[in-house]
Parts: sequence; C-alpha cells; structure tokens
Amino acid sequence: MSFPDQHGHFGEFGGRYVPETLMALLDELDKVFRSLKYDKAFKKEFAFLLREYAGRPTNLYLAKRLSSHFKRLNVYLKREDLLHTGAHKINNTLGQILVAKKMGKTRVIAETGAGQHGVATATACALMGLKCEVYMGAEDVERQALNVFRMKLLGAKVIPVTSGSQTLKDAMNEAIRDWVTNVDNTFYVIGSVAGPHPYPLMVREFQSVIGREARQQYLAKEKKLPDYLLACVGGGSNAMGLFHAFFNDKTVKMIGVEAAGKGIATGVHAAPLSVGTVGVLHGSKSGLLQTKDGQIKIAHSIAAGLDYPGVGPEHAYYKKIGRAQYVSVTDQEALQGLKLLSQTEGIIPALETSHAIAYLEKLARNIKRKASVASAASVIVCLSGRGDKDVGGLKDLI
Ligand SMILES: *Cc1c(COP(=O)(O)O)cnc(C)c1O
Repeated sequence: MSFPDQHGHFGEFGGRYVPETLMALLDELDKVFRSLKYDKAFKKEFAFLLREYAGRPTNLYLAKRLSSHFKRLNVYLKREDLLHTGAHKINNTLGQILVAKKMGKTRVIAETGAGQHGVATATACALMGLKCEVYMGAEDVERQALNVFRMKLLGAKVIPVTSGSQTLKDAMNEAIRDWVTNVDNTFYVIGSVAGPHPYPLMVREFQSVIGREARQQYLAKEKKLPDYLLACVGGGSNAMGLFHAFFNDKTVKMIGVEAAGKGIATGVHAAPLSVGTVGVLHGSKSGLLQTKDGQIKIAHSIAAGLDYPGVGPEHAYYKKIGRAQYVSVTDQEALQGLKLLSQTEGIIPALETSHAIAYLEKLARNIKRKASVASAASVIVCLSGRGDKDVGGLKDLI
C-alpha cells in the first residue's frame, strides 16, 4: 500500500482542514499534479531545470576526516548545500512554479521564516517571469535582513506580518488568508512537506530526488545499502526527500533530528514529534506543540528553518509505525556540530543541518555500546544547506 491515500491521509495524519473556499482549488491542484506524473514534457522540463539550473545531481561525498573523528562510523554527505541558492529548497520551488504555470496562475505567494524558502521561490519566479509576494514575520524581517534584500533584488515583494509571534506560523496564516481571497489567479508555494493535501505529497515528490540519487550513488560506491539515514527536521522536507526512496529497504534505519532549542525540559524548543501531541495546524493533522486547550505554542530554535511548532504529517506517520525514529539536539550541540564539520571537512553547514551533524556524536556512542562486530556502520547525512547565511550572527557564539 502506498501513502497517502487519495484524500491525503498518512494513517490518521494529514488530510485537509481548510475553509470551504479552498476545497475546489485543492481538488484542482491535486488533479493537475496527478496528471503531471504522466506528462512527459513536464518531467523533461523539471529534470532539465534541476540539472542545468540548480546543479543536480549533487555529490554523495565520503567525509573521511569527520568519519575518523567518530571511529565506528562511515559518514557520507549528500551535498544539497552545493545547489543554486545554497539549500535543498530550490528542488521544490522549481517544481511548484512549473505546476503554477501549468495551471495558468499569474501571481505566486509564499511564506518564509529564515527567508530561505522565500529566496528559493523568488528565484524560481524570476526565472519564469512570475509575480512573487512573500509573507514574512516582522521579527524575521529584522533578523534576516540579508535574505529580505536578496528577495527584493530578485524582484519579489516582501510583506512583513505583525500578528501573533511575528514569525513563520503567522506568515503562513497570512499567506493562507491571501490565498483564500485570490484563489483565481494566485498559486501558493508551500516550503515544506506540510499544509493541506496535496502539498505534503507534492513537496515529497519534488524533494525525493535527494534519496533516489543518494540510493543509486551509495549502491554504486559500496555495492550495498547504508545502515542509517540522518537529516534535520523542521517541516521535514529535506528529511522526507532523503528517506522516501528507502522506505521499503527495511534494513536501512532512518533518524530525523528535531531542534531541542534550549533543552526539551525547558519547554523552549521546536520538537513536535519528540514531545508534541496530535493536532491540526495549517490545514493538516500531525504532531504539534500546543497547550492542553489547543493553543499553538511558540517554537524556538537557533536555526530559523527549524523554528516551527508543527511538522509534516508523513513524519508523524513514520514515527507511529516505527519506520523512523525522531530525536533532538539543542542549540548548543548544534553549534558544536557546525564547528566540527567546518574544522574536519572545510564545509560550513547551515545551522539547521548542524543539528543532524551534532547527532552523529550520539549515534556513534550508541553504536559503540551495541557493536559486537568490528566493522563500522555507515550513515548518509542530508547536508541540507550551507552556512553562509548564518555566520554573521554567530560571531559572538563560536
Ligand atoms: C528550511 C531548511 C530546513 C528545514 O526545512 P525542512 O522542510 O525540514 O527540510 C533545513 N535545512 C535548511 C538548510 C533549510 O534551509
């Protein structure tokens, strides 16, 4: 059985919890998206853009000095940081903008937290000649001035959102409000495997190129499958992008790393799968940080891209059926991870990605405890993005 079902359910998760006015549009989007599976011209154009414009395939690189730091681990890095605009997000925005064009939409909106998804959307819109408006929490507009400037330079309009906590979830609320009002000409590009059906499915399809490539590349190099897959989880798109192609490979263990912020016990974190409860946010049912009476809690992470109280429904499902395990890493541990990869491999990762790197220490310790054989375990880490966007803010922390 493949997931989601035709209504977008991953077990009890996912689905479509939206105002009536959006139902017809989501039905149409679902229909168009499904038809594209068999559309040769679409597939050809998407593959062309990923290759010639974004820079795929990305390398699967054996990090030797990092591996020897852990002794019993062979660490392979899937280098999404080498893509145009510096992260995996461009895979998804190129795909969705092609869908928008197919549907004859002339205006594109998006939400953004750190600004990475906003930049990737503005980039794809510039490339295709579409009008682009990006909703961004007023607090993030201030914190991420460089990305705001990049979006403007790319021709997009940035709309600061002053409601609520003035961060990502509020930007997404405003984007949905805009969309409800302007469905006729407007396409909403969602940045992760979240939102109402068919978005979690669609974004997974566009990002799953990560895992398909990695699986082939690993098999070609090692003639077997890896023991572990490791990725950070904000909404969950880079992790699902890596995991999905390995779903039926039962020996391959999957680990998603959430942001423990200042520590799970402090309550100041962004780990809805580790300690959240089931609820509905932005049109879909999944793990969620909420109070007992259903108010959404404010999330925190040093990595703006992980700073979200919800998570994609397919991850909640993977957790429920035991297909993947979800763990968490604090702000401080992530900073150590950033330093470690920078100084062992000469690769400065994004703060989001640094959570996955930091978890390698714990994984290596667990393996050492359990290992009865001498051979090292192998792990593919999704290197979701480069750290250039973060280094300015880190001067005092490192
Ligand atoms: C946005 C972002 C993330 C988090 O989003 P996911 O949907 O969980 O992948 C992770 N890493 C980088 C570099 C990002 O820009």
